[in-house]
Amino acid sequence: MSRSVPAPPARQVRSVPFLEKCFQYERADRARQAGLYTFFRPIESAQDPEVTVGGRRMVMLGSNNYLGLVNDPRVKEAAIQAVRKYGSGCAGSRWLNGTLDLHVRLEERLADFMRAESALVFSTGFQVNLGVISSLVGRGDVAYLDKQDHACIIDGARLSFGRVRKFRHNDVEDLRRMLKFDGAETKGRFIVIDGVYSMEGDIAPLPEVLAAARQFGAAVMVDDAHGIGVLGRTGRGTAEHFGVENEVDLIMGTFSKSMASIGGFVAGDAKVIDFIRHNARTMIFSAAQPPASAAAALAAVDIMEREPERRERLWENTHFFADGLRSLGFDTGLSQSPVVPVVVGEDLTALTMVKRLHEEGIFVNCVLTPGTAPGRALIRTSLMATHRREQLARALDAFHKVGRELELVS
Ligand code: PMP
Repeated sequence: MSRSVPAPPARQVRSVPFLEKCFQYERADRARQAGLYTFFRPIESAQDPEVTVGGRRMVMLGSNNYLGLVNDPRVKEAAIQAVRKYGSGCAGSRWLNGTLDLHVRLEERLADFMRAESALVFSTGFQVNLGVISSLVGRGDVAYLDKQDHACIIDGARLSFGRVRKFRHNDVEDLRRMLKFDGAETKGRFIVIDGVYSMEGDIAPLPEVLAAARQFGAAVMVDDAHGIGVLGRTGRGTAEHFGVENEVDLIMGTFSKSMASIGGFVAGDAKVIDFIRHNARTMIFSAAQPPASAAAALAAVDIMEREPERRERLWENTHFFADGLRSLGFDTGLSQSPVVPVVVGEDLTALTMVKRLHEEGIFVNCVLTPGTAPGRALIRTSLMATHRREQLARALDAFHKVGRELELVS
């Protein structure tokens, strides 16, 4: 493998007891020593369907560049122009000096795209969830989260002064049971779910969640990081997919996937967004999204809307690749999206498979605990609109070869 992130030198002297856990942490070292460490791999090119790693071209099946816009000349030119005009950073938080007219334009464009009254742009998607959930959920409130919600939803709820309840993954009956159990002492109820789950690619039963929310007077927020640009007739995500856009209180998205940049947003009623704008600590106390990133996201929204054929190609590629894996005998779980897992079970099997696929010229991601349940280690693959059939066929051949070596398929 190419020049990679170096392992720390072995060293035993001078450690305060507080830092002892770091010196005892061996999980990464064990993988390094076994030659199975494939994390933090340095990529020497853009996140295209093929990337360069260690001077070698590989098929990239581990990128969230769903619509293939990260290296699009129009998106890149928008970012370059923004650097020319605004420089490289905002030197402060949106609240005080960091808001550019570009951020305001992006927010108006996103509100329009999402058919919401208002939208608010943060520096990352992670910060959206931390800020929105912790500012809305107060003392006496309860946040209801799906057990497989993204880490930043869980952390946002933990940061709040409310209580946190986690229901079984995609199990609306379990959610209802909790909503019923929390009686009159509960002030407010806030349900936060992913639209598309990021590790296994399954879609939330949003209409059923909304019905439960209505019955118990709860508000609903959908994290559509993997849904926007991908699901729905016009790419507006999971709520559009189910035809329930008017019933969801808040939808958040990130620019780090379909929208070819970094940053995130939340869209909803103007009064709710204004409350978040003035109360979310990740908005007020953290520097604004850089100009290049805002301009790239703005260009990406335009292209996303004007070129629906990208979404069609993404789905064609998804069906081709997922069907190919299944016909080879791999377990692709409950995937219903361009996130296609290959469930292999044990951590060691997953580590070995990713390493072998790397050697075969295929870049995929290894998902171990706590990213997945114990015994459900998986290889996470994700498709792009811009993958060519020949590249996907090559990847399927490599999966077949390595899967046979590991006795996962025959
Ligand atoms: N939500 C989900 C479901 C995600 O997968 C991610 C990113 N991995 C985020 C939120 C955080 O977004 P960002 O990368 O923009 O911080």
